[in-house]
Amino acid sequence: MELFWHRRDLRAADNVGLAAAAGTETDEADRGPAAPVFVFDPAVLDHASDVRVRRLLDGLAALRDDYRERGSDLLVARGDPEAVLPRLAEALDAERVVWNRDYSGLARERDAGVRRALDAVDVAREAHHDAVLHDPDAIRTNAGDPYSVYSYYWKKWTDRAKADPAPAPSDEALADADRLADAADAVDGTDASDATAADGGVDASPVAAVGDLPTPADLGFAEPDADVGPAGTAAARERLADFLDEAVFAYEAERDFPAEGATSRLSAFLKYGEIGVREAYAATEEAMAEAESDARPDDAPEQVEEFQQQLAWREFYTQVLFHNPEVVTANYKEYEEGIDWRDDPEEIAAWKRGETGYPIVDAGMRQLREEAFMHNRVRMIVASFLTKDLLADWRHGYDHFREHLADHDTANDNGGWQWAASTGTDAQPYFRIFNPMTQGERYDADAEYIKEYVPELRGVEADLIHEWHELSPTQRANAAPAYPAPIVDHSERREEALAMYKRARGEDPDE
Ligand SMILES: Cc1cc2nc3c(=O)[nH]c(=O)nc-3n(C[C@H](O)[C@H](O)[C@H](O)COP(=O)(O)OP(=O)(O)OC[C@H]3O[C@@H](n4cnc5c(N)ncnc54)[C@H](O)[C@@H]3O)c2cc1C
Repeated sequence: MELFWHRRDLRAADNVGLAAAAGTETDEADRGPAAPVFVFDPAVLDHASDVRVRRLLDGLAALRDDYRERGSDLLVARGDPEAVLPRLAEALDAERVVWNRDYSGLARERDAGVRRALDAVDVAREAHHDAVLHDPDAIRTNAGDPYSVYSYYWKKWTDRAKADPAPAPSDEALADADRLADAADAVDGTDASDATAADGGVDASPVAAVGDLPTPADLGFAEPDADVGPAGTAAARERLADFLDEAVFAYEAERDFPAEGATSRLSAFLKYGEIGVREAYAATEEAMAEAESDARPDDAPEQVEEFQQQLAWREFYTQVLFHNPEVVTANYKEYEEGIDWRDDPEEIAAWKRGETGYPIVDAGMRQLREEAFMHNRVRMIVASFLTKDLLADWRHGYDHFREHLADHDTANDNGGWQWAASTGTDAQPYFRIFNPMTQGERYDADAEYIKEYVPELRGVEADLIHEWHELSPTQRANAAPAYPAPIVDHSERREEALAMYKRARGEDPDE
């Protein structure tokens, strides 16, 4: 018997650690069956949000149902994994606890504690690379350093051979549901989660159950207002198949236009690991083969490659975080004098509410609240607006995204914010500042996306919407009385932003 600890890999298929624990990957007769467990860890819940707890519970319900169809089930435990996992391993008489690596600093600290706790009771443990195609230490510059420039990283990433999807365990290679129930009974009600009541709002008494998922309220969270979307492997596969059927062949051309819905919307599935990255990549290679055939236009391979590039961005930021865990709170790029952010609370609050008077910015911020998602181009626009028009520290934006995005991923979110704030690895230069009006005009010419999320502007012609900053108060009142005037003047703020960054660089802003 082996205990398999699910964390950010809520799937049975293409799961490297699970395949090993079940003996599927190795064909070793002495491995398996695998007993799957998920642990609600109060230290992790401390950093969660209503949206992400809802999304996590939906993903876990789908995973549990998958296991039930295979005659197994999902153990659901609560408490500090250092206390819970050794107890469960003992109750199952498990030889080994197996998991897939998580590369953030916090997760690595937690895993080190679990390793020590298992060593203390002589239970073997094993960690696998699974979340990314190339482990974050594998791709380095010729001088042996981690990459900080994406384009060079991509060249090596794309040239490397990719692993095939890991085989899903057979039904026989999974612990049967009765055995899991006995183990849960043996552990349930012990004092292993004493620590949790104090800091996680997690009930102290139940430690383990089979298949019984807590409600958000049990974990100290509320139901979110946003619709977090579908969850689970079947939904992820359907989404990927739909996207690769047609949209991928126009991905590069259309991905920047938020009204087109031309991107995969796989991010939350990838974040919770409901689809394996090897499986996803292999499917893109099939699309590439079709793109290279006569059935598709000449530029089809570039379109598919552009999508593969996004998967590589995810891996690029994963390795940035792995090598620089401090970037979660600190600028990756040092500015000699530090950046003197303006940080006006009222302006930041208007940005969060989607009431800045800049239509594309407000549409994005409202999409975030409604769908726990925002289109990538619009993420870049709202992030630029916060940091370079409102001159607010990127950490305000990161925290807000962390609270509201269902796909919040420390590495990608942080990478995106630091890129926009010109403090990151492959950041855009500080003097390149998005103009939110021209961005809106270029990427949402008919204001279709804007009107979807900003109902006050629905009856207004697109031309007027894109000139909103230039209209007189009377013109605005006539066109859309309920929609605010711009809270700042972009041209003035642009100059202020340039001066702020120059000062941070130790330069004279007047030169
Ligand atoms: C300020 C800011 C914050 C962001 N926060 C997150 C976040 O918390 N979680 C997140 O997954 N992405 C984040 N992104 C990246 C990107 O916006 C989303 O991955 C993308 O919008 C998700 O939509 P999609 O699945 O349709 O993407 P697609 O265009 O279909 O891309 C496919 C997949 O590639 C990955 N990907 C795409 N773009 C990027 C990127 N720029 N960086 C890293 N990975 C990428 C994602 O896993 C995505 O699902 C952020 C970008 C910015 C500018």
